[in-house]
Amino acid sequence: MTTKKIVLTFPENRVTKPIAYKLVKDFDLEFNILRAEITPDIEGKMLIEVKGSKDQIEKGIEYLIKEQISVQEAAKDMILDKDQCVHCGLCTSLCITKALSLDKQSYELIFEKDKCILCGLCLNACPVQAIKLKI
Ligand code: SF4
Ligand code: SF4
Repeated sequence: MTTKKIVLTFPENRVTKPIAYKLVKDFDLEFNILRAEITPDIEGKMLIEVKGSKDQIEKGIEYLIKEQISVQEAAKDMILDKDQCVHCGLCTSLCITKALSLDKQSYELIFEKDKCILCGLCLNACPVQAIKLKI
């Protein structure tokens, strides 16, 4: 038995697919949604934990890819270096879960860790490398 955390990106026409049901029933995997930002008809992201044999997890991932769902291994943590951040806001436009936002009054960057799905999209947006992912 092994456990893997992965980030799924659903194209807008796949958001309503019953993938959790398929992973449990057809691939004998335990499936736990840790965080999700899913809205019908809009690209969505989900951080999940799957548990099962290595072989079944690989087969489950193959199934997801066949269903045009993008799969990437989740990072272990995201670290924001507040001393380095210059509050330019570039990262906020890439963060689909709104874990990163600018305070409306102070224009300072706010990071809400509980909303972060560790997808890494914000990483390359930062001109001063204030964002780091722990792999
Ligand atoms: S890794 Fe970055 S872009 Fe992805 S959810 Fe977390 S803060 Fe947002
Ligand atoms: S892109 Fe970098 S410097 Fe700009 S707000 Fe985000 S973390 Fe701060």
